[in-house]
Amino acid sequence: MESEPKTKAPVSFEDGSTAFAHLSDQELNFAYWIFRLMNNEQLTGVATGLAEWAIRWNLPVSWAAKPTIFKVFCGGESIEESKGAIEKLGANGIGAILDYSVEGQEKEAEFVKTEREIIRMIELAKGRKDIPVSCMKVSGICSNGLLEALSAKRDLSASERPAVAALHQRFERICKAAYDNDVPIYIDAEESWLQDAIDRLVESMMARYNKDRAIVFQTIQMFRHDRLDYFQKLIAQGRQQGFKIGVKVVRGAYLDKENNRAAEKGYPTPIQPSKQATDDAYNAALKLSVENIDWVEVCAGTHNEYSCLYLTELMQEHGLQNAHPHIYFSQLYGMSDYMSFNLAAGGYNVSKYLPYGPVRSTLPYLIRRAKENTAIAGQMGKEFRMIHEEKKRRKAAR
Ligand SMILES: Cc1cc2nc3c(=O)[nH]c(=O)nc-3n(C[C@H](O)[C@H](O)[C@H](O)COP(=O)(O)OP(=O)(O)OC[C@H]3O[C@@H](n4cnc5c(N)ncnc54)[C@H](O)[C@@H]3O)c2cc1C
Repeated sequence: MESEPKTKAPVSFEDGSTAFAHLSDQELNFAYWIFRLMNNEQLTGVATGLAEWAIRWNLPVSWAAKPTIFKVFCGGESIEESKGAIEKLGANGIGAILDYSVEGQEKEAEFVKTEREIIRMIELAKGRKDIPVSCMKVSGICSNGLLEALSAKRDLSASERPAVAALHQRFERICKAAYDNDVPIYIDAEESWLQDAIDRLVESMMARYNKDRAIVFQTIQMFRHDRLDYFQKLIAQGRQQGFKIGVKVVRGAYLDKENNRAAEKGYPTPIQPSKQATDDAYNAALKLSVENIDWVEVCAGTHNEYSCLYLTELMQEHGLQNAHPHIYFSQLYGMSDYMSFNLAAGGYNVSKYLPYGPVRSTLPYLIRRAKENTAIAGQMGKEFRMIHEEKKRRKAAR
């Protein structure tokens, strides 16, 4: 892992007993074995390869995934099945962000189903502290092809035009439901060649529904070199036009996909020149958020330890209370519990993305998680080490 600057943060991520207090011995053991297997690069390579192959050939793999990796990273196959996970997080002061994890849909009937599911999720979250916000991907309610065409500003065919109208109506209905139920919604950021269309949709809904507070949240990927500038302009626009800015700040997924496509098609990559440049931009975006906290609501969506600690320091410097209503920390379910649970114990607002959906539909998501967790040198290695230490600590205390 790259060496990171020291912080004077008012919270520590070294406390394993707080981090894993929510896990029984049996659950801790289970997490240990799953992380241990995932940390084996060869084994994960074979397992993810088999899963990719099974998806392509429509072979049954759910029986193997459900009691193992699905159990670690997903709440269940439905909202109802995710109840246990929501309650467990809630009991520890952590909110669940229900994430209907169905990817790569192309059919109208599937978009309609996704819209209904998101609205159902928003209605369920109304007034609940344990489900403080909702989230969605715009690519869940229209085809990628349409988002790409809109982003490239290419002329649309006669058959595409009704799909654009349907997308606008669907997105509007979802944002209105979020507003009517007072449940903020995080709109996930996607590939750069889809994102321009998403930006325009999100900005128009922010202008409509964020007059009093941030309901519609834009996601900003700091691995793109143009996004700090975009964020500054968005704040200026919000102030000028009288709408509040809600942002989820992330580094960005799909790094290789972005670089490979740019190389293949011969345009300059939108990605920062180095990991350090992404980290600097990420932390600068946090600083910008805190400096504009009267107008901005921010969710730091990250597993990066330094960035979380840095945000707690910024809050302290600006005299903001730990539970400041405009500041959220967020991690993915099953990842970086040592950060989430220690932050929550320190009184910060914390939430976790809790994916749910039919096992088969969540496989692409699970494959990404398994691949990420093989990086022993990174933050995930620390999670594994801390689980191991907590196991030893409990054994010694018996
Ligand atoms: C709650 C939550 C919500 C999320 N929502 C989204 C979303 O809507 N859209 C989305 O795209 N992602 C999303 N992500 C994923 C996120 O973008 C990152 O991929 C992931 O969190 C890893 O980054 P990190 O900040 O946790 O930590 P780190 O492990 O410190 O950073 C890894 C990240 O750094 C960047 N990076 C790595 N190497 C380089 C390099 N050579 N040059 C430039 N940059 C590099 C990449 O973005 C990589 O993912 C979300 C993550 C969380 C926790």
